[in-house]
Amino acid sequence: MWMVTCAHCNEKPVSTDPRLCASHFEQFVLDTVKEVIDRWKLLQPDTKVIVAVSGGKDSLTTLFTLKKLGYSVTGLFVNEGIGSYRHDSREDLITFCTDNDIDFKEISFKEEFGFTLDEAVATREYHPCTICGTLRRYLLNKYAREHDVIATGHNLDDESQTIMMNLLRANTALFSRSGPKTNPSRWFAQKIKPLYLLTEEQILTYTHIKGIRTRRSGCPYSKVSYRAALRQELNEYAVNHREMKRNIIESYAKLLSHMNDTDQEASSDGISACQSCGQASNERICKACKIQEDIKAKLKRA
Ligand code: SF4
Repeated sequence: MWMVTCAHCNEKPVSTDPRLCASHFEQFVLDTVKEVIDRWKLLQPDTKVIVAVSGGKDSLTTLFTLKKLGYSVTGLFVNEGIGSYRHDSREDLITFCTDNDIDFKEISFKEEFGFTLDEAVATREYHPCTICGTLRRYLLNKYAREHDVIATGHNLDDESQTIMMNLLRANTALFSRSGPKTNPSRWFAQKIKPLYLLTEEQILTYTHIKGIRTRRSGCPYSKVSYRAALRQELNEYAVNHREMKRNIIESYAKLLSHMNDTDQEASSDGISACQSCGQASNERICKACKIQEDIKAKLKRA
C-alpha cells in the first residue's frame, strides 16, 4: 500500500505544510527562525534578549527556539488582570521556564498602575484593547530597556493581519514601524519578531512535537476587536488561496527594503519626554499616562 512519507525520509509526516516528519519538522522550525534572524540581522551572538511572554504557544516557542539557537533569554510576563484568562498560561509559563532553566520576571497592571484591566474596562472610558495595548506596550518598553532587545512571538498570521489593518486604516506611521524588527532609538527598545515567517499552524505543531504544554484560552475582550474580524476574513480567504498570507509578508518585506531608516525615524518625529513619566510621547503627556489618569479619576468617583 502506498504511504505518504516525509519529504526528506521515509518517516510518517507530522505536518502537511511542509510535509515533514517530527525530526525534520523540528529542524525546519529552527532553520526558519535562523533565516529570519540572518535575513533581517536581528541578533548578534552575545545579544541579551528579553522575550515578552504570555505563556501561549507563540511566546514559549520564541523563548525555546532562541535558547536552542544559543541566545541568552529572559521571559517577561505581563499580567493585565483579565478574569482568570492568564491563570492557566501563567502556570504553563512557570512550568516551562523551570523545566528549561529559563529566568522570567512577572509584572502586573495592578502593581504598576493600581488597577486591573477588568477594573479599567468597567469604567467604560476606553475600548478594552486600547487600554490593554497602550499600557502593555508602555510596560514592555520600560522593562525592555534594561536588555539589548525585546522579542515577541508575533507569527506570520499576526503580521499579515497587522499589515492589512494598517493599510485599511491608512495608518502610515504604524505601517512603517511594522516588520521583523524596529530600529533602536533613544525612546524605544528595539523589538524583534523571530517567528515572522512561521504560521500559527506550524507553531502549534512544533509545541506538540516538543511537548510544550500550552492551553488555548481566548481573551474575553477579543470578540470586540477589529483584529478578530479581520483575522476571520483573512482565514476564510486563505482556504482557497494558501500562499496569500506569506505573499502579504513578502510584499511588505519588499516595500521595507525601499523604506530606509529615515522612514522609520520619521515616525519618531515630534517625540519628546512625557512630562509625567519621562517615556516617549508626541504630546505633553503620553497616552499611557492619560489613560491611567482618566481611569483613576473615574474609579475614584465610582
Ligand atoms: Fe488585550 Fe484582550 Fe484586547 Fe488582546 S484582545 S489587546 S489581550 S484586551
